[in-house]
Amino acid sequence: MPDSKSKHYKKLYSELYAGLDDITPLQIDCGELCGSRCCSNEIGKGVFLFPYEEVMFENKMNWGGFFQLSGMDAIRCDGKCVRAERPLACRLFPLFPYLSADGKVETRFYSPMTAVCPLIRLGDYSLLAPDYADEVMQVTLRLFEDPDCQEFLLKISREIDAYESEPWSELLK
Ligand code: SF4
Ligand code: SF4
Repeated sequence: MPDSKSKHYKKLYSELYAGLDDITPLQIDCGELCGSRCCSNEIGKGVFLFPYEEVMFENKMNWGGFFQLSGMDAIRCDGKCVRAERPLACRLFPLFPYLSADGKVETRFYSPMTAVCPLIRLGDYSLLAPDYADEVMQVTLRLFEDPDCQEFLLKISREIDAYESEPWSELLK
């Protein structure tokens, strides 16, 4: 990757990580309520990375390893990581940036993980800590300003649509 691109993404993700460093979805630790299901669900699997997010793990990744997950770059985790190094998708979860078919930028519960996360299953935005919901929206707007991230999020948004249009997805609600 050219140096300028690497610098650009290091700066972008460092800023986005910092905004979400100490923020959690609820005002209490939801991991204590559910036994950190989102992390234990990843044991033996891993988490997909945003475009060029691997720059954040250069020289300091002592808990993961890169691999391809459904054609996307991902980082392996065994349900544990260095919290300060957790990738962006984990910091955003259970919300996720989304672009509706009519072009509206939103943050949404990440429905493909409905079976894992009780908060997604409840789908109640009023339960979320306001600073978390606000920061995820700020991060979302920043991501949509970046052409590579925008393309990535468009793809995921349509995948979310496809997931939600499956008749069986209703069974998980
Ligand atoms: S699965 Fe949902 S409720 Fe449980 S720790 Fe993860 S985000 Fe919180
Ligand atoms: S990378 Fe860390 S925060 Fe993300 S799922 Fe794995 S253990 Fe959980």
